[in-house]
Amino acid sequence: MSEGTAKKEEKPRKFQAIRGTRDLLPPETALWNRVEQTAHEVFSTFGFGEIRLPIFEPTELFARSIGAETDVVSKEMYTFSDPPEAAENLRRFFEAISEVGDKEPISSASNLGEKTTIGEKHLPELYRLQEEWKKSDLASLRPEATASVCRAYIEHSMQHWPQPVKLYYMGPMFRRERPQKGRYRQFYQIGAEVLEREVASGEWRVASREGKEVTSGPPQAGVASKELAKDAAVDAEVIEMVMTFFDRLELQGVQLDINSIGDRNCRPKYVELLRAELLKVKDRLGPDSQRRIETNPLRVLDSKVESEQGIIATLPHIADHLCEACAAHYAAVKHQLEMRGVMYRENWRLVRGLDYYMRTTFEITAKGLGSQNAVCGGGRYDGLVELLGGPPTKGIGFAIGEDRLILSLQESGKEVASGEWRVASKERKGVASGRHGVDVYIAWMGERAHATAIRAAKDLRKAGFSVELPPVELKFGKALGQADKLGAKYALILGDNEVSEGLWTLKTLADGSQQKLTEPQLLDFLRKL
Ligand code: ATP
Ligand code: MG
Repeated sequence: MSEGTAKKEEKPRKFQAIRGTRDLLPPETALWNRVEQTAHEVFSTFGFGEIRLPIFEPTELFARSIGAETDVVSKEMYTFSDPPEAAENLRRFFEAISEVGDKEPISSASNLGEKTTIGEKHLPELYRLQEEWKKSDLASLRPEATASVCRAYIEHSMQHWPQPVKLYYMGPMFRRERPQKGRYRQFYQIGAEVLEREVASGEWRVASREGKEVTSGPPQAGVASKELAKDAAVDAEVIEMVMTFFDRLELQGVQLDINSIGDRNCRPKYVELLRAELLKVKDRLGPDSQRRIETNPLRVLDSKVESEQGIIATLPHIADHLCEACAAHYAAVKHQLEMRGVMYRENWRLVRGLDYYMRTTFEITAKGLGSQNAVCGGGRYDGLVELLGGPPTKGIGFAIGEDRLILSLQESGKEVASGEWRVASKERKGVASGRHGVDVYIAWMGERAHATAIRAAKDLRKAGFSVELPPVELKFGKALGQADKLGAKYALILGDNEVSEGLWTLKTLADGSQQKLTEPQLLDFLRKL
């Protein structure tokens, strides 16, 4: 610090939200609530129940499900080791030493001193604890929620619930990405998952009659095709649900892209073919795509680099390389979407950045978002629950980017379009001051009127009206000025005369008209509006 700055009086630090995070303020939060309320309503009509999940989970859960090599896990997660846990492990370690025969019992990490010697015989225990510590101690802020839902499915033995289990969630997710329009480090998702225990065996009927679980045995042809048809219907219904939700919100320019990325039978062969083809044109690709030829050739299809587009257009399409089952599944999904009147576009280049997807993948884009125009991504992930140590389970789900959804609604003026949004255009003046939706402003004058005003406010609020009650007496003109600033619809005028007559004056602020009403008449009048 230079002398000059040292002499200056130190100003208190001005705090700002961390880069990539932001405050959501009124009146915008009314739109967020409206969107979330609509999700609750629409999803429950499809038989989904809400699950609330922790914000942080073991790092390992995400590494294993999303894939340790993906950008999300390798670069973007907020990971920490919980200090109290670390101290607890240390304490247990030294306790362990004292148990195996050290003379100086050490009860806490804080009294570690030079006296402590770790004999060779303690080393195995040290390594064991170290391993345990490594595994148990790292936690990450969730970058997405599908892994958590699968963890919860296993933890609560949901395979014993009536199948399929249909869950939805909403809340913040965290990824350390470069912040820009529609891309934040704390962002919000609304998502849903359908999970179903796999009964791939021909003994299915026996199993259900005896109430026993059967998880092995080769699938019979009939059963297999029935399962395929069922999966396709589930996929289509999940997609139909998101589209219904967007439709209800009147989201503009909605475009659904679908694809099938095959399964573990056919995808590896296609990936090899793709890799071979990419190697032939390697020199003409940019550094990112060159790297992906080795790490994940599918992601090259996702490239937005202008000069690569012509080359990518000539690459083989996965649709031509799906195995019989995947091809049948994909055809059935398309048929099911058509039966539901869901418009889609096939996009053979649609792949997802998370490892767990198979067969159906889809993405939905909307208007007014620039290059971050994907508002929803989803797909099928059979096998993920099993990968996390659970029973063989099928899964399909999606995640909507709520921030982008809101942006798109705002861009198209949807936040003020419907009478249901409380922030209507007439109230814009109030909106500017951060308030909105005031129904009645009570202009009171005198102590007696104050008591009546407090009671009137209580009754009006109980009846569901938004009431503004000034905390101190204001001159009449000033009170009306405030009511106007807040965008109130009515001013209820309470002075000594009104109180003693029992007749209250209600002023309609839009046209300045006035009327005298008794208290019950006032409630009646407001209710009828
Ligand atoms: P993108 O290609 O835009 O990075 P993604 O494939 O990483 O999206 P998913 O992991 O599938 O996205 O998440 C589903 C949705 O969540 C996306 O379609 C998007 O709307 C939203 N989303 C993802 N990351 C962010 C972010 N950093 N900020 C805001 N929204 C996000
Ligand atoms: Mg991303």
